[in-house]
Amino acid sequence: MLQRLLGERRARQAHRALRNGKLTVLCLLMTVVVLRGTIGAGKFGTPGQDLSEIRHHLRPLRRSLPHRALVEEQPKHADADADDDRDEERDPSVPYSLGPRISDWDSQRSAWLSSHPGRPSFLTPAKPRVLLVTGSSPKPCENPVGDHYLLKSIKNKIDYCRVHGIEIFYNMALLDAEMAGFWAKLPLIRTLLLSHPDVEFLWWMDSDAMFTDMAFELPWGRYSSSNLVMHGWNEMVYDDKNWIGLNTGSFLLRNCQWSLDLLDAWAPMGPKGKVRADAGKVLTAFLKDRPAFEADDQSAMVYLLATQQDLWREKVYLESAYYLHGYWGILVDNYEEYIEKYRPGFGDHRWPLVTHFVGCKPCGKFGDYPVERCLKQMDRAFNFGDNQVLQMYGFEHRSLASRRVRRIRNETSSPLEARDELGLLHPDFKAVHGTNAGS
Ligand code: UDP
Ligand code: MN
Repeated sequence: MLQRLLGERRARQAHRALRNGKLTVLCLLMTVVVLRGTIGAGKFGTPGQDLSEIRHHLRPLRRSLPHRALVEEQPKHADADADDDRDEERDPSVPYSLGPRISDWDSQRSAWLSSHPGRPSFLTPAKPRVLLVTGSSPKPCENPVGDHYLLKSIKNKIDYCRVHGIEIFYNMALLDAEMAGFWAKLPLIRTLLLSHPDVEFLWWMDSDAMFTDMAFELPWGRYSSSNLVMHGWNEMVYDDKNWIGLNTGSFLLRNCQWSLDLLDAWAPMGPKGKVRADAGKVLTAFLKDRPAFEADDQSAMVYLLATQQDLWREKVYLESAYYLHGYWGILVDNYEEYIEKYRPGFGDHRWPLVTHFVGCKPCGKFGDYPVERCLKQMDRAFNFGDNQVLQMYGFEHRSLASRRVRRIRNETSSPLEARDELGLLHPDFKAVHGTNAGS
């Protein structure tokens, strides 16, 4: 019939095609049977599943990578989370206190120092033992990239502290639930002062502040009769009562009774809730240019100093000769100019010691500035400081915006002859970590 319909030649061609087709189908079947035998794909058996099994078999590398957890595991029960966030109730009629009253800390501490001659509070007559303290919330950042910037920021501080013979403590625990947020530093600082009597100065530094001058050593001698050193201006605090007359993002506090008293006087506006909200109104009414918001530690400090000058002023050093804290908005766009004209070691308007990203909140959802701008500028500040570290090892960032580095010296077979231009690799102050400590 086929022959009749198509003609003889055509029919022969069709027969051949049919035979070839049969052969192809047979080969295909054989292939599937062999593949199934080797990879055991018959578990489910549908073609789709077989295909995906084959794919996985052919890409063993990919299969060996488990799916990475991109979000933190949630607590198993809803209760666990609630429990985590629930604060213990405090009787509001009892005034808040940071801890049991201590009134003889100076004598307790000096007795401890006498009985521990191996842990002197001064490493040399001119160099106090310093503990740099910083920290962040116990929770992951609300903005996930914020955790990366916290890491950059602590790396930056570790570098400065290593070079300058300073110890470092990073806190992630909320020691007192009532003192959440910017107030968390108060109970932390008190605890650390009392636990480390060998520490002469505690240096608090915010997580959003970075060292941008790795070579600048603090002028310790200048503070020999001061107990609190903050970046600020006397006129702006004591005369103008301006809420930005000082900054509490980077300051030094001496380990002594005076400082415990100061913490006690500073704390009462901190407890969250009604106390903090009401205190915020008092601060906004009293201080110059302060927007309306809950009480913050910085405004409370200006308020305390301005209203109780006779108690505190004598022992407070408001430093403005260099950037113990430097507002990022006026510094980050000038880094190229500093590089062109100056060198590290000045700490001031020529090469700022600290660049502080006030108001950026890279870890939170809401800041006062667009987060992209903040992150870009934080990268620049990090690289600006990090170049001084990398240069010791013969590298630097390709630009202030780049994570990549380039070599700035040829490798040599006499590595110890390389010049340590800033003296950061083998600084004198590093040597204070040995047995040559004075008292
Ligand atoms: N901080 C902390 N634990 C917290 C929240 C904040 O230790 O739970 C610290 C953190 O180091 C942060 C500082 O408090 O840098 C002050 O807050 P922030 O820097 O956001 O305030 P700003 O400098 O913008 O006024
Ligand atoms: Mn800050």
